This record gives sequence, structure tokens and C-alpha cells, in this order.
Amino acid sequence: MDKDILIIGGGPAGLSTALHLQKIAPELTPRILILEKAHYPRPKLCGGGLVADAEILLQGLGLEVGEIPHVDADTAHFNFSGKGLTLRLPGTHTLRIIRRDEFDAWLADQARARGLEIREGVSVTGLRPGSEGVAVETEAGDFHAQIVIGADGSNGVVRRCVLPNVPVNTARTLEVLSPLRPSATSPKFRKVQRNLGEGRVGGAFFDFSPVPKDITGYLWDFPTLVNGQPMRCRGVYDAKLLAQGGKRPPLKETLAAEMARFGFDLEDYELKGHPIRWFDPFAQMSVPRVLLVGDAVGADPLFGEGISFALGYGKLAATELAEAFHRADFSLTGYRQRVLLSPLGQALCARWFISFIVYSLKWKWFQILLWRFLKPLVRLVAWLFVLNWARRMK
Ligand SMILES: Cc1cc2nc3c(=O)[nH]c(=O)nc-3n(C[C@H](O)[C@H](O)[C@H](O)COP(=O)(O)OP(=O)(O)OC[C@H]3O[C@@H](n4cnc5c(N)ncnc54)[C@H](O)[C@@H]3O)c2cc1C
Repeated sequence: MDKDILIIGGGPAGLSTALHLQKIAPELTPRILILEKAHYPRPKLCGGGLVADAEILLQGLGLEVGEIPHVDADTAHFNFSGKGLTLRLPGTHTLRIIRRDEFDAWLADQARARGLEIREGVSVTGLRPGSEGVAVETEAGDFHAQIVIGADGSNGVVRRCVLPNVPVNTARTLEVLSPLRPSATSPKFRKVQRNLGEGRVGGAFFDFSPVPKDITGYLWDFPTLVNGQPMRCRGVYDAKLLAQGGKRPPLKETLAAEMARFGFDLEDYELKGHPIRWFDPFAQMSVPRVLLVGDAVGADPLFGEGISFALGYGKLAATELAEAFHRADFSLTGYRQRVLLSPLGQALCARWFISFIVYSLKWKWFQILLWRFLKPLVRLVAWLFVLNWARRMK
């Protein structure tokens, strides 16, 4: 089948690319097809934490994410061993937590309502760009496109096909869903009561105590709503900045110890893991006729945050595509520069740089100094370089 613009992957990056393209070049809408290997609502391992930048990008598309089930965390806590900095945004929530199956299905519905075509249950197995277009192989037959957008996530097939020998950086994650509190019959319940202050009910927590043990990341603990039931989503993130190819510090034991602090036995819950490809400013982001968006390019190495960036990549890719069709030039040579010079690229570069500082200086004293004593500096850096980029995306 022939289609001018083939988007591989119907997650936030692919759907955002299509929605932005539909907004800025509506005449291209019938020429776009999104291929998604799963069926909505499909599971996606993710904490579901949406920062304000994600909501700003959605509002720019005329979408209000508050329509779907969510929990608003009023505070975000950045701690070392339970103590540190609290972030609170005046008059609004600091983090909105959604479930990804619901969020992605909602976004796909919005895309369909605007005339965009999505084919579910079609898994792409390979592609070959050529001078006349791109041949795309799927389990449901072959497609031919003028341009392909690789929006198929951290393990995507598109990058593997077009940039097979380029090294990639991936983070490790483990995630578990637990009730708000351990069962009152748990033998540890009384002992942990003092750890279960009210702050652990509504806030979102990031704890950097694993850094001195060579885990270049943090433990998270978010409120979440699973099928209408308030729960906690807990996990551990390791960007593997200090252990590329080498010995890996144990993630499961680290998460188990944190869960035990709150009276939970990790063995009682289903533990899931997934890699996150993170952004490298020196990496290639396109080849002629194929460009990458979202995790296929790279998420933020500092926190593994990727939903807002996936939405932002979609906006940049849409502009690149609209111009490519206008000029009938599909070399896409300007895409990397477009990304790097954008507020999104600047925020990702800043986070990339900060992650090497924060995680390389892994000593306990430094982490305590950073999160407990240098709070004004951390707030300033976060405000100027880490957050607030979406408002500047024209
Ligand atoms: C444990 C964990 C926790 C996280 N927590 C957060 C968080 O709290 N906040 C945050 O902002 N980010 C978080 N992230 C990162 C976030 O999930 C990603 O950055 C985000 O999903 C990237 O979106 P994407 O559209 O690029 O890729 P994805 O969401 O992975 O979407 C890719 C889509 O492509 C489809 N696909 C894949 N291969 C094919 C194929 N061959 N053919 C057709 N379709 C295909 C998939 O089914 C999927 O729908 C977390 C990640 C993990 C692993």
C-alpha cells in the first residue's frame, strides 16, 4: 500500500507528530498513516508523570488531559535518604499522573477525531529507504512511503534498520504497583508507621540515595489511579552512566529495600522492567526519508522523563515534514539542527550535561549537599534549564 507519510508507532511521539502535522498542514492529513503494533488501550510500562511542559504542548493542540483519570501531585520531593528539597508550583499541581494505557488510547481517539488514520495490530518488521521512497515490511503486508517517522520507542525497529551500527545509551528501570499502605496484618506494619507520613499519600517522591552505590538514578514513588483505585507506583531508574558494559549494581535489591522501609515485600507484587533510550546530542536523528522522534531519538538521561519530550519531538518533526513536502526535498538534513537549537533540544542538552555532573559526583556527602543544602541553586537551575521549555516552542 502507498502512503506519503508513514508513522511507525502510535505512542505520544507518533501521535503528537500526526496531530501537529494535521494542525499546521491540514492538506497532508489524508496522506498520513500511523501503524501501531498493539491495540488500544495497550499496556505501557511508565510512571505516567506528566510535567507542565507536556500539558502546555497538549493545550497547544487544543487537548485537555484532565478529561482522563489522573492524580495531581501538589508537591514533588527530591530527596537523599528521605530528606531534601520540595517543589511546589503556585496555584497548580506540580506533577499530573496518568496511566499510559488510558492516556495513549485517549490521544489516539483525539487523532482519529481529527481525521487521522491509525491501523492497530500492524507490526513493522523492517524497512529500506531508497531514492524513490521507503519500502516498509509489516506482518500485514508491504507499504511504500515518501517519508517514514520512527516513533516506535526505545526498542524500535526503525532505528535498528537505518542506523544499525550507531551505539545507543539505554537506562534500566524496574517498576511495581502497590497499595497505598501495606496490609495491617503485615508484621512490619507497626514498625513502618512512622515512615508513612501524610506526605507519602499525595506527593511524588524522587530519592537519590542509590547514587553512591553506582546507580546513576533514583527511586520514585508516585500516587496513581489504577481502574479508579488509588495506588502507588514505585520504581528505580539507572541511566547506567558509570557502568556502560561493566558490572551493574543490583536494581531489584535496591527497590526491595526501599519497599521494605514502608512495610512492603517486593516479592508480593508484579515487578516489570523496560529500557529507556536516552538522548545523546552527538547522535544522528535522521537519514534521507526517515526521521526519528520520541524515545527512538532519546528521552532525558537525568530522570528518564520522556512523555513531554515525545510530544515536543512530534511538534518539531511536523514542522520539518511540512517543509520537506513544501520543498519536495526529503533529505531531512536540517532535522538534527532543528532539534538541538529548539528549547526542547536545549533542555535535553542541559539535562544530559547535568546528569553527568550529578551522577558522576556520586559521593554521599555531595548528594546530601546537593539535595539538602544547595536548594536555591538546584531550584534556579531547574527553572532555567530543566523545565519550562515547552512555552518557548514556537
Ligand atoms: C518504567 C518507566 C517509567 C517511566 N516513567 C515516566 C514518567 O513518569 N514520566 C515521563 O515523562 N516518562 C516516563 N517514562 C518514559 C516514557 O515512558 C517514554 O519516554 C515515552 O513513552 C516515549 O514515548 P514514545 O512515543 O517515543 O514511545 P512509546 O511510548 O514506547 O511508544 C512507541 C509505540 O510504538 C509501538 N511500536 C513499537 N514497535 C513497533 C513496530 N515494530 N511496529 C509498529 N508499532 C510499534 C509501540 O506499541 C508503542 O505504542 C518511563 C519509562 C519507563 C520504562
